[in-house]
Amino acid sequence: MPTYNRYPIAFDHGEGVWLYDTEGNKYLDAISGIAVCPLGHKHPAFTKALIEQSQKLIHTSNLYNIPLQEKFAATLCQESGMQEVFFANSGTEANEAAIKIARLYGHNKGISLPQIIVMEGAFHGRSMGSLSATHNSKHQEGFAPLLEGFVRAPLNDVAAIEKCLVENAGIVAIMLEPIQGESGINPCPTSYLEALQSLCDKNNLLLILDEVQTGNGRTGKYFSFQHSLIQPDVLTTAKGMGNGFPMGACLIGGRAIAVMQAGHHGSTFGGSPLASAAGLAVNQAIHDEKLMQNATLQGEALLKGLRGNLADITAVKEVRGLGLMLGIELSIPCSELVNLARDKGLLITVQMDKVVRLLPPLIINDAETQQIIDTLSQLIRKFCDDR
Ligand SMILES: *Cc1c(COP(=O)(O)O)cnc(C)c1O
Repeated sequence: MPTYNRYPIAFDHGEGVWLYDTEGNKYLDAISGIAVCPLGHKHPAFTKALIEQSQKLIHTSNLYNIPLQEKFAATLCQESGMQEVFFANSGTEANEAAIKIARLYGHNKGISLPQIIVMEGAFHGRSMGSLSATHNSKHQEGFAPLLEGFVRAPLNDVAAIEKCLVENAGIVAIMLEPIQGESGINPCPTSYLEALQSLCDKNNLLLILDEVQTGNGRTGKYFSFQHSLIQPDVLTTAKGMGNGFPMGACLIGGRAIAVMQAGHHGSTFGGSPLASAAGLAVNQAIHDEKLMQNATLQGEALLKGLRGNLADITAVKEVRGLGLMLGIELSIPCSELVNLARDKGLLITVQMDKVVRLLPPLIINDAETQQIIDTLSQLIRKFCDDR
């Protein structure tokens, strides 16, 4: 189906941060398959783990115990301070689990029409539930009726949330991305996250964090909420978890414990032996290769280099982000930069027409980081000069 506007290019193979197209041209992958490949391409230990597990056992279903899934769940809980995990196959699915948990949590309290507060600019996925939680008219147009049970609030506005709580009956949860990715790298200050946590504590609401894009080391901590003092009740993750092996997870703790019971939710594929082996191998490499430290280091270098080089360009509004999740906001539409960068051997995206997004693999080294800074600075300068 023509559901994608694809660029006229296909890749044949990859190595590290590099991708090689079918014509033999080389590209620096500063997007990682949309925040999916923290280890880059053709990572030896990850490839080995996939091969070895696929020679042993790939899938058995959740009818039976899956020791590797239990091991991976324990690992994720240790990384996050959460208590239990449901394994799914994508970010959308992880968020569907979170939405179902919030509704059941409400029904268990006798609330027959539970409502979840969600944010302006949110992206939570494209299934009917997660699409209804998303805030993007382009994605939603033509798909009414959307699901009810969501109340929209502006991002980073504590008073607006307090007003929501007064004006709406049956609020059971607040759901948000700690740094919005799809809508252009919009971070929540830690003070805001901490205020939400205290509102949730006071009103017995679930704090649901969507760390599908921010998780798995990308921002320099395993999960980006760990830059603050909060602990969510529900945490979803997916993108970087399997370095390209499709998987997602919904983690619970706090007030969300004991909500879901046998029969309430399920997945045929989720948490298979192969998926779990892939996830464990990614986690191992993140620690063995100190990739969170590297994300912090390279992210700071990118911020410093890009801010320095672009400071005098009036059309550059802001360079922002955390770790290796960065945005350069222009005051003019700049989607054309994606093609111009690709012609120079650099893969980027532009979000909301005006924000250049960078999500390079966490294995990126100093020289590769410098190459992104140099290429992008020159491109943006020329692009803005020409306008
Ligand atoms: C990508 C993304 C999703 C959806 O994940 P899929 O794996 O595409 O289903 C949900 N939330 C956030 C924050 C995302 O970035």
